[in-house]
Amino acid sequence: MSRLQLDGLGKDYGAQSVVADVTLDVAQGEMVVLLGPSGCGKTTTLRMIAGFVDPSAGEIRLDGAPIDGLPAHRRDMGLVFQSYALFPHLTVARNIAFGLEMRRLGRDAMAARVEEMLRLVKLEPFAGRLPRELSGGQQQRVALARALAIRPRVLLLDEPLSNLDASLRSEVARDIRILQREAALTAIMVTHDQDEAMAMADRLVLMREGRVEQIGTQEDLYERPATPFVAGFIGRSNIVAGRLAERGRLLADDAALSLAAEYGAAGAASLALRPERIAISASGEAAQARGTVELATYLGAVVEHVVRLSPELRVLARAAAPAPRFAPGTQVGLHWGTEAERLFDEAGRPIEAAAPVRLTA
Ligand code: ADP
Ligand code: MG
Repeated sequence: MSRLQLDGLGKDYGAQSVVADVTLDVAQGEMVVLLGPSGCGKTTTLRMIAGFVDPSAGEIRLDGAPIDGLPAHRRDMGLVFQSYALFPHLTVARNIAFGLEMRRLGRDAMAARVEEMLRLVKLEPFAGRLPRELSGGQQQRVALARALAIRPRVLLLDEPLSNLDASLRSEVARDIRILQREAALTAIMVTHDQDEAMAMADRLVLMREGRVEQIGTQEDLYERPATPFVAGFIGRSNIVAGRLAERGRLLADDAALSLAAEYGAAGAASLALRPERIAISASGEAAQARGTVELATYLGAVVEHVVRLSPELRVLARAAAPAPRFAPGTQVGLHWGTEAERLFDEAGRPIEAAAPVRLTA
């Protein structure tokens, strides 16, 4: 297993820059997830690491040595893609053996390795089947076994779950994560799905328009988002654009919000507010904002309310069920603590709260 470093990695297609200045240090045994909206450059980054796309800038190092000159098949990387890319006319066992045949492993060693891989992904009884005789989840486990059979220095996964049914996705995600941890595999996974990324990663890289927006653990990105984009993408915060009036008041559209903390700054600011950290009261007493319920939705594990604060401003609040449900039209108050809010200046940089924090009733 290996340490993988990206240093200022970039890719241009003609005049279009699709990846720029990606710097990342993946430790041995670490699972890093590249996350971001469609088209932000995740796959291009992964394909540069794999050796299928030539970088326009920067360097890739494996255990300290640059690998930019190495062709894909000499990088010893295991690849798993969205489409399983199994050979349809080859059995499961032959599919798993494919990379080993390329590497001219001896007959007995190869048979032993295929056995081991079949056991690893719990597909021993299916060795003689063709891919089309397997379910989607089983096919993806074959693809994983084929990638792991060569004992790769790095495992690369590009949206490995997105062709699977929702019900299978979390199961296969857990399988991959357990295998990766037990084998202490250095791995990079690409996904556009925030929940999948949160569930799989040791660390996340959130990308936007070809650039790294923030790198950190789940907690870093959730509790300390570096930009409004991160706050909106991770956990789907409410983003309220407005103006900091007095130290703890945000004027937005026709609404005035009393913030949980005080801030030294003044002027244009946007507030990121976590839906699951907003409480709703009917009395509206000591409320930080007031509004009218537009929609109340019971989702089993949670109850969601859409509350309109002004003609242009709606806020989503989410409470763990069981929780009271307020009918549309009800006037309510919103309440939250300092851990629910994060303020950004006009340039999108965080504004830290100024001590002391006001005590709310
Ligand atoms: P993601 O995987 O995050 O959805 P991609 O890395 O696939 O994004 O693509 C990033 C951007 O690069 C997109 O705008 C895409 O259209 C563009 N792109 C990808 N490959 C090529 C190519 N071979 N030629 C030109 N543009 C490309
Ligand atoms: Mg992609």
